[in-house]
Formats: sequence, structure tokens, C-alpha cells
Amino acid sequence: MKYIFVTGGVVSSLGKGLAAAALGTLLERRGLKVLMQKFDPYLNVDPGTMSPFQHGEVYVLDDGAETDLDLGHYERFTSGRLSKLNNLTSGQVYENVIKKERKGDYLGATVQVIPHVTDEIKQRVYDVTESTDADVIITEIGGTTGDIEGLPFLEALRQFKDEVGHENVAFMHATLIPYIKAAEELKTKPTQQSVAKLREIGIAPDVIICRSEYPIDQDIKKKISMFCNIKPEAVVPFVDIKGTIYEAPLKLLDQNLDSIICDRLGLETEAPELIEWRNMVDRIVNPTHSVKIGVVGKYIELQDAYKSIYESLTHAGAANDTHVEVVRIDSGNIEEEGPEKYLSEVSAILIPGGFGDRGIEGKIMAAQYARETGMPYFGICLGMQIATIEFARNACGLEGAHSTEFDPETPHPVICLLEEQKNVETKGATMRLGTWEARLAKGSRSAELYGKTSVNERHRHRYEFNQNYRSEFEDKGLQLVGTSPNGQLGEIVEIPEHPFFIAVQFHPEFQSKPTEPHPLFKGFVAAALESRK
Ligand code: GLN
Repeated sequence: MKYIFVTGGVVSSLGKGLAAAALGTLLERRGLKVLMQKFDPYLNVDPGTMSPFQHGEVYVLDDGAETDLDLGHYERFTSGRLSKLNNLTSGQVYENVIKKERKGDYLGATVQVIPHVTDEIKQRVYDVTESTDADVIITEIGGTTGDIEGLPFLEALRQFKDEVGHENVAFMHATLIPYIKAAEELKTKPTQQSVAKLREIGIAPDVIICRSEYPIDQDIKKKISMFCNIKPEAVVPFVDIKGTIYEAPLKLLDQNLDSIICDRLGLETEAPELIEWRNMVDRIVNPTHSVKIGVVGKYIELQDAYKSIYESLTHAGAANDTHVEVVRIDSGNIEEEGPEKYLSEVSAILIPGGFGDRGIEGKIMAAQYARETGMPYFGICLGMQIATIEFARNACGLEGAHSTEFDPETPHPVICLLEEQKNVETKGATMRLGTWEARLAKGSRSAELYGKTSVNERHRHRYEFNQNYRSEFEDKGLQLVGTSPNGQLGEIVEIPEHPFFIAVQFHPEFQSKPTEPHPLFKGFVAAALESRK
């Protein structure tokens, strides 16, 4: 097994995860089997309980793990499907160590960061190695070199490298080369210092990825090479990408990142096969059509809160030869000023998942606007619950209809707590999570788009469609066309009379890939395009 560990220096949000994922693409397209994972030094057991303001989107895996959004990059950039083994946090590490201590596994010993915590971290790398038939494991370490929380991880990796042999381990360090306007100069000092920090711990990077706004010339490369003790060709510029993030593998290929890594690890392969990837990038960068789609949410100002949704729209746009311009609409504004002002300029509306009652009424108004004007509507998770509440209130006359999440006393609980949730009192990892099968009604629009009547989709919710209202809804035109295999849980509602009105309880955005767009997103963008014409 070969291992690549990706660390970051200087600042966060450098695109370290993107660089790691892009390396994954290149190695995979060289015919290697690649597994990607992330180690996060924070103390939460998983990011499931963090607000999008803290952390961006929570990305859900097949097995129900709630993980860092970088795992979304990994699954979009490589073909691997990840599992809960692939996102380790300090919270999990300490939880395990403390459990072992209570059990008596360390009887007699003082339990310490070194060796007990570092052993636990290394053990995860060995466990992942056991669990996979991959040729290469790429592990990104969250945070920035120098963070106190990150130290045990770096120390564990230093030990690990000695245990499995230097020839099997490569370190890739991503840093920022800031441009100082007044001096009109790119500065290498922060990079030098962050590499010095790594070397203090006993890790010498093999490659430095230099994120910068401007091209990095030979002199700067030489300087970094000299001060950081690496070959000049291993200083890899990663200049801001203007078109699409899916160009990242191509940009890094131009800098020979893949061959540098393969040489370092003694991996012999052909050059990467990127025809399909290049075609996809070309479709994203040079589309024929353009369409505006409104995403109505409450975390709209945050780029990362609906990451997978935005990416899925890009994938679906490419499949329709269309540039999707996402118009981010704050549901709070619709609540205050009405839907017309914000929604009349877009061709379709998507309401994503969410929790908590802020902005809910604005979302309900948006759903009503879409239903009544025939504008394509795509509801995801909370967006499905919103569509149901709106229909109950305004098409069925069920006054005060609501979800018991937002109004526990509602006279019409059209969305209510899942039976299995009724006695759940803790918040972490207790929702209905992960991949579950849904059966689709033959002849429904969803079945038509999927081209099948059984689908597996990822979930993350506590509340569900209340089937006591099903026949009333169906009489008025909202059909439940997808359910769990036993028929008990509502998975998809549609309005067949409407040009495009589909709302799903699951999260299709977690399975869309740039080269394999999700069929519902693809159909939705096609409908938006149609309604624009
Ligand atoms: N808050 C809703 C629920 O728990 C929707 C969740 C979501 O959109 N992910 O069911």
C-alpha cells in the first residue's frame, strides 16, 4: 500500500481538499485504485451537530456517516464510495481511548497523547488499509500546521512513516503564496515558516502545492525549493481557477503533480486517461444555453452550506449543455417582501434541506409561487416537507397545517416525527441516516427520469410525510409516488399536472458526479430550460 498525506499551511480554505481530490482523479485515471479520506482534528465526534455557519454542509455517506464536505469532493472526483472509516476526528480518537481506559485495556499505564492517542490514529490508517483493495490511500489532514489540535495527528503520521517505510509514504503540503499589492510581489515567507513547522515535527514535504492568485515564476519556485529543501519541480503552482473546479486535475497535470508523486512512491503506470474528464470540463466551461435557478434557503450567504446542491446543478447543467446561474435567495427576504420580487427573475426553484424554523414561511411562499405559476420546483428533504405543508394549507384548505418540528401543536401535522425517533433524546448521529431504498410508482415522472422503479438514495432527517393525509392530497393532485419498500415512509411527492414539481425526502445531491449527473437534477435543469423558452 502507498500512502499520501496532505497537510495545509498558512491559512485554511486554501483548496487543500480540492487539490487532494484532484490528485485522486489523476492517479485513478492512471489506472490506480485510489481511496481518499479525511482526518479532522476538532473534538466533535462528527460534524453532524455543527451549524453550516461553522462547517458548511454535512456530507452523508452510504453507511450514514455524517462527514466533512471534503468527502463530497472525494466522491465527486474519484469513483470510490466512502464509509465511516474514512473520516476520523479527534472526538472519535479520544472517545475510543477513553472507552479503552475505562475497560481496563491500558491497566497499569498512564494514558497519554503519545503513545495512546497517536496509536489510536495510526490504528485507523491500518484499519482502513485492511478494509480496502486500493493501491493508494490519500489522507487529508484538516486544519493548518501549527494548530494545537493537529499535533497528535502529525506526530502519528511521523511514526507511521517510519513503521511502513519512507518509500511508501509521500507528504504533500498545501500553502498560500500571498500577493502584496504595495510591493507588487508574491511572498514565500509564510510557506517557509509553515514548512519549518512541519519539519520541527519530523515531517519533510515531498511536494508543496502553492495556491496563489497570480502565476508563480521560476525565481519563486527556486526560492521555495531552497528554503524548504525540496526539488524545484516539486514546487507545484496551483493558481486560482476561473472556469470550474473540475479543471483542477488538468491544472495539476500541467505541473506534473501525478508523475512527481508516482516517481516518489515507485508507482509505475501509464499517463492518465482524461478524455472523458476533459470533455466534461469543456461542457461546463463552454455551454450553449444559460438558465437562472433560484435556490431558496437560509444559509444562502455561505458558499459551502449547499455545496453538493450547487455542484449537482453544475453537473446537470453540463449534461444539458447549459450554464446554470444559481440565484441565491434568502427565504427571510421572501417572507418580508413576498415572492414576486425575488422569484420572477428565475426560471425554476430549488428548496434544499434544513433545520429550525427561521425562514420557513418564506420557503412555503416560494413553493406556493412555483406550484401556482407552473414554475419548475425541486424540493430536497426539508424542501419536500415544505411542498407538503404548502399543499395542505393552500390546495387542501387545511388551515395551520405544519410540521411538528416547527409547530408541535399544529391541528394538521402533515409532517411528523418518524416513529423510530419518538424516544430519541440525543442529537448526535440519531437521525434516519444513510442509504435506503425507495420504490417508485410506474409512470411517475421520477421513475421516468431514473429509468427504474427502485432507487437507493442517502437520507438525513427526523421528520416524515404523514400518510394519514395521503388520500386527501392525492384527491387534490399531489401524489406520493415514492415510498420505502414497506410503503410506510414517504420518499417522493409529485404534482403530475404541473410542468415539473418533484420533491424528495432524500438527498440526491450526494450521489451526483460531474461525469454522471443525477437524473433528477438533470430533469430539473431540462425543465428549467424548457420553462425559460
Ligand atoms: N428538518 C427536517 C427533518 O429533520 C429536514 C431535514 C433535512 O432537510 N435534512 O426531517
